[in-house]
Amino acid sequence: MPRVLDPELRHALAARIRYYNEMGIYDFYRRPAQESAENESVRTAASVEIAVPSFGIQPETRAEMTPRKAAAVAVPVAVEENMFEVIVTKPEQGVSDPVKALKLIREDLGDCTRCPLHKQGRKQIVFGVGNPTAELMFVGEGPGADEDEQGEPFVGRAGQLLNNMIKAMGIAREQVYIANIVKCRPPGNRTPEREECETCSPFLMRQIAVIKPKVIVALGAVAAKTLLAMSASMAQLRGRFYDFKPAGVRSNDPNWDGCKLAVTYHPAFLLRDPRQKGEAWKDLQMVMKELGL
Ligand code: SF4
Repeated sequence: MPRVLDPELRHALAARIRYYNEMGIYDFYRRPAQESAENESVRTAASVEIAVPSFGIQPETRAEMTPRKAAAVAVPVAVEENMFEVIVTKPEQGVSDPVKALKLIREDLGDCTRCPLHKQGRKQIVFGVGNPTAELMFVGEGPGADEDEQGEPFVGRAGQLLNNMIKAMGIAREQVYIANIVKCRPPGNRTPEREECETCSPFLMRQIAVIKPKVIVALGAVAAKTLLAMSASMAQLRGRFYDFKPAGVRSNDPNWDGCKLAVTYHPAFLLRDPRQKGEAWKDLQMVMKELGL
């Protein structure tokens, strides 16, 4: 029997879920309800947790980037079964045309002020560019000055190197999709803060769920650590594939159950240390083999 909630509590729950929806988080699961009378008072404080995928690797704690927390929401477990169905919607849900779906995500992002980067000198939001049905997707860290100016990711010197890397794989830039973890330029090209990454990346997760790539290449440590929700050195992260599902969102396509994710160096790093280009090429060859290129 569904439990009838106190209207005030129900209102608070709905507001909390809307807040998480605005952050791009839609999937929740419930802990089993305890039926004892003793737990009746505890019931309202029990948690509904956001599903965070596990990738089979133990996170390490490192000073520069701690593992992402599994967010827990203090909301009641005892809600009517259809309550989430009513509230848990996102604009692109049920939209089969990826162009339209990406447009809806962009509209949902709006003139975003969700994290501090909106007031730190950005000229525009850099959403992402490329083939909305790409088999291969590149994810970098954040826009730089050129990207901020032009509104497109990877258009500066690092972008030219990325273009060369894509060309060396035997494909064109237009065939892939390119985006970043954060969509606004961090001032002075500083590394985005974890909170900024966690606030912005749910929109990227929704883009990934729409595009449904076969392989994602995370460019650099920030992209890899944010997407994989783990912390490790580049040496530990590179050289293998990870099974990846975008956290907190579901694809419209029941046949798309996630993709492979590989990690390589960020092109900006390769410009600073060209000796690592050979290592990056090994990573891309692994991706090419997976894609049959
Ligand atoms: S970086 Fe992302 S979350 Fe932050 S203001 Fe820009 S679009 Fe919004």
